[in-house]
Amino acid sequence: CGIIATIGSDDAVGELLTGLENLEYRGYDSAGIAVQNGTGIKVRKKAGKISELKDTIAADVPNGEVGIGHTRWSTHGPPTDANAHPHTSETERVAVVHNGIIENYERLREQLAAEGYEFHSETDTEVIPHLVEHHLDHGMTVEGAFRATVDELEGSYAVAVLAHGTDTVYAARQDSPLVVGVDEDTGQYYLASDVPAFLDFTDRVMYIEDGDFVRVTPGEIELTDRDGEAVTRDVETVEWN
Ligand code: GLU
Repeated sequence: CGIIATIGSDDAVGELLTGLENLEYRGYDSAGIAVQNGTGIKVRKKAGKISELKDTIAADVPNGEVGIGHTRWSTHGPPTDANAHPHTSETERVAVVHNGIIENYERLREQLAAEGYEFHSETDTEVIPHLVEHHLDHGMTVEGAFRATVDELEGSYAVAVLAHGTDTVYAARQDSPLVVGVDEDTGQYYLASDVPAFLDFTDRVMYIEDGDFVRVTPGEIELTDRDGEAVTRDVETVEWN
């Protein structure tokens, strides 16, 4: 039900957990994070309260500068640790958080399963990391694989993807909210389903529209449309009480 991402932070885990707590008001049944560091993508996720996720993480804090986080309100599959987001591909080359419903997930799941991709959850979301991996297996770049994946999705989504070995987060939206937080002084960026998620860090906001693709890396953001043409969204200062 909520997404948060932080790009270019020296404490990705701390910021993700703050962001998740700021999203609690939306309601949720599970929560999780994934961060990227030198040794790969580290995922921590749990059914239940964010405080339980925090306890799990406190025992073994993964460091990182880029990360994605999620609070889940189950639509497909009960609230279990396995169904919590982020979801990863087989090789853990990609981790995905998603809000919304993928209407054509059954067909996609059958196709991917027939090709040998193994599913570990009952969610509609899990088709996304496997689809990205499928396109990577066919030689695409991460950006190409993400674009091709989004083209195949029907339904509603705000989706953010973290890829192994890069400090880049890719995101897209259709009928689910997604906003970007911009800290122009530090070059740090945030992605979230709602402004309060990152208001502790910045009040500069860019509103993303349906059909926009976002590629964001420390100090740099690129917005494009479905055809890859550049689009511009203004950065505004929000007043929030
Ligand atoms: N449909 C997805 C699931 O059930 C995402 C739900 C949400 O928006 O939190 O896992």
